[in-house]
Amino acid sequence: MASDKLKIAGTVHDSIVDGPGIRFTIFTQGCEHNCPGCHNPQTHPLNGGKEIAVDELIAEMLKNPLLDGVTLSGGEPFLQADKLCPVARAAKHSGLTVWTYSGWTFEQLWTGEASDDCRRELLALTDVLVDGPFILSERSRELKWCGRRNQRLIDVQNSIDRGEAVLYVPPVYGADFEIPKW
Ligand code: SF4
Repeated sequence: MASDKLKIAGTVHDSIVDGPGIRFTIFTQGCEHNCPGCHNPQTHPLNGGKEIAVDELIAEMLKNPLLDGVTLSGGEPFLQADKLCPVARAAKHSGLTVWTYSGWTFEQLWTGEASDDCRRELLALTDVLVDGPFILSERSRELKWCGRRNQRLIDVQNSIDRGEAVLYVPPVYGADFEIPKW
């Protein structure tokens, strides 16, 4: 029987930097992309980190009533897509958004060389995919929610519908706000 335990490097219970709002961020353990200059080399070994039962992780995530979403980061989350699908499903069921970071691109995960049924399912449960490898020369501190210019924020549901990557456009809060005339 497959283990119901996820290998993680850690969690942050109330992140405000891994997507919009307050987020429960899961840093999965294990990555084989070997991006030069990666900031999280400790997350690379597949046998490192610690194991946590998926049910326990979901309960931990749902404890915070102020949460806006869950962010799946790494490491490479799609290496453990089978364990993360129930987490993403529970999040959606509770009205939370799902953001996922990956060293693979949308195209590689949806139809390309990194695609398989489990990974496609996790992708389909994702609202926004921040995709692409870490390229040191593309690093920028001015970007929101990602650290390199080559990374894309992908609107996954629209991309699946259209069959091509569609960029996510964050809502502009207050754009239609009119100053009351007294
Ligand atoms: S995908 Fe992320 S964790 Fe993996 S090597 Fe690249 S930057 Fe590091």
